[in-house]
Amino acid sequence: MQLSLNTPIQYVPRVGPVMAKRLEKLGIRTVEDLLFYVPFRYDDFSLVSPVARVQAGETVTVSGTITSFRNAFTKSGKKLQQAQLTDETGTLDVIWFNQPFLAQTLPVGTQTCLAGKIDWFGHKLVMTSPVYEIITKREGSHTSMDRSMRSFSANQIESLHTGRLAPVYPETQGVSSKWLRGRMAFIIQQCIQQVIEYLPNSIIEEYGLIGIHQAIEHIHYPTDTKSAENAHRRLAFEELFFLQLRAWEERMLWQQTNRSHQCKTDESEVSQCIRSLPFTLTNDQQTTTKEILTDLTLPYPMNRLLEGDVGAGKTVVAAIAMYVAYKNGLQSILMAPTQILAEQHYTTIKSFLDPFGLQIGLVTGSMKTESARLAWNDKFDILVGTHALLSGKIKLERLGLVVIDEQQRFGVVQRGALVGKTKNGTTPHMLTMTATPIPRTVARTLFGNLDLSVLATIPDGRKEVKTWVVPNEKRDKAYAWITKQMQETNGQTFIICPLIEDSETLATARAATSEYERLKKIFPLFRLGLLHGRMKSKEKTAVLKSFRSGNVHILVATPVVEVGIDIPNAAIMVIEAADRFGLSQLHQLRGRVGRGSLQSYCLLFTEEEKSETLTRLKAMETTHSGPLLADLDLALRGPGELFGTRQHGIPDLKIARWTQADLIAQSQKAMKALTSADPTLTSFPLLMEKLKNSTIHAVHQD
Ligand code: ADP
Ligand code: MG
Repeated sequence: MQLSLNTPIQYVPRVGPVMAKRLEKLGIRTVEDLLFYVPFRYDDFSLVSPVARVQAGETVTVSGTITSFRNAFTKSGKKLQQAQLTDETGTLDVIWFNQPFLAQTLPVGTQTCLAGKIDWFGHKLVMTSPVYEIITKREGSHTSMDRSMRSFSANQIESLHTGRLAPVYPETQGVSSKWLRGRMAFIIQQCIQQVIEYLPNSIIEEYGLIGIHQAIEHIHYPTDTKSAENAHRRLAFEELFFLQLRAWEERMLWQQTNRSHQCKTDESEVSQCIRSLPFTLTNDQQTTTKEILTDLTLPYPMNRLLEGDVGAGKTVVAAIAMYVAYKNGLQSILMAPTQILAEQHYTTIKSFLDPFGLQIGLVTGSMKTESARLAWNDKFDILVGTHALLSGKIKLERLGLVVIDEQQRFGVVQRGALVGKTKNGTTPHMLTMTATPIPRTVARTLFGNLDLSVLATIPDGRKEVKTWVVPNEKRDKAYAWITKQMQETNGQTFIICPLIEDSETLATARAATSEYERLKKIFPLFRLGLLHGRMKSKEKTAVLKSFRSGNVHILVATPVVEVGIDIPNAAIMVIEAADRFGLSQLHQLRGRVGRGSLQSYCLLFTEEEKSETLTRLKAMETTHSGPLLADLDLALRGPGELFGTRQHGIPDLKIARWTQADLIAQSQKAMKALTSADPTLTSFPLLMEKLKNSTIHAVHQD
């Protein structure tokens, strides 16, 4: 069978249906998927040494004949394999643990390469648990493969596992890197010529990228570290480039296929509204408001992301936009992630806009009958609510502006349901608010389809929240300090339970409940309340109401609930097992306090003693800016997964890293140049094809 790029993987020799099933778990369905399945690191076995020259601590490849092999037992009764490998310079002791089958694979007389680490064992140098690669008994396909590989790439694959940088892939049950290497080499040899370069030449040249053939070959079988880096750079570049291009496409599509209700803004009306507010807008709020109001006047609907720290004052900006919509005869919706936030927004918006005679309604899931909901419809200028707003029953004939408050989760939620066209064929303007401190580089790449407005500063007059990392031995002292502080100031306290899982589960609720019982004993002088996601919404509202009114002094809560609540008298935030949170998450939780006039405090409890954990947490003591902490999160976590991004709905990259700011900037520049030269991409059919079904698959192991 002639293999092509879209041949199902099962038909590749030595794969078959069973292996194909397993590979599917890794996202590999076709030959092409396999080619683009990239290793996440390499074992460096490139140091090839004569036996006599090996040194303790080195990872080396040696090559020779097995001259002894026996199965033995360790003192503790575990199976141990002891062998010796001899070359013309000497003999090396080799051991494996618990691999008795090696007796058959590597009988005395076998010519083999071994790659592994050399250690002292008593006064002898021993190679421990090496990878082996038998030299004489090659499977047929490998031999022929080797020959042709050599022909098109001089320095190529004499060996797959030893004497080289050996690729290590994300594995799954029954699919080892060793197995993958064999199939990969085969596929590269058979099919690489079928991959046709899809990146435009101009981009390859301008950004010094290597071609796709070399990239595929070297990402799997690099000749040296540099060639691996070049391959990685090319594939990372294209991953980012495709993200940018997709976002751009989406933006174009939005602008071309949607017509907006174009608003007129009356300067004097707007400034009258702004003057009526109980405070003056910050500069950022003014700029942002201007950006949004300009969008409202355009012929295609706004699609904007408003990013600002917790407490930056996003709601009022949204309120002004809704006011302008109202003045243009349009209705607005404000959707919040939880009932409590919806109620809070409702109160705030009402206080801002009631004086101007707007009808403002609240819609939440706990409202009883459908008819009650139906009653809302056309009477209201603004509807504030939860996901209940998405219920098909609500039809606002004059809907012109949709505001979504995503709070800490940037999810691009069921937007479709809200943006459905209105009667006269226009699409409402969309404003998404998020407190997720998304690093700028990430925002530009992932959300390039959205326009971005940022509230970088917090309104004046708010004090910095003093933050301390509290090690375990100071826990009792901290509790005593909290008691004293609360007695002196009458301030209130949040105690956030440890993060158990991303989403609220029964286990989380139970943990919170038992923590609540424990804390009741520690704070006998105060009334405690409990808040977790498994409570009925009526109960939640009741607890929060008591906390707001000062009836409850200490609120014990799980991390995933109600992070947007605004309780000005809350001045102390305690976070249990703070080490389990990302800095951005901690920052958002900290933002619950410091909203009123009291000096506020954030206590980060941790039982971790690792110095890097403590250093990471200590950053909270000195850094008070969300975006800075987001960048720090990125830097401190290094090349791994961006901490907490999953909770934020920011996807992991497959090959590139969010830390590669340069590459992100370059790919963006390339995207801009290309799309302005050829907005339809018609001169790049291969690129368009690839964009449609990009198949870069890799999973980061964590
Ligand atoms: P967030 O961006 O977290 O949604 P909010 O819109 O809830 O922030 O605003 C936080 C608090 O700050 C609210 O009580 C709001 O009334 C107040 N606020 C907003 N803008 C200003 C300002 N310019 N000056 C003073 N207080 C402000
Ligand atoms: Mg808010």
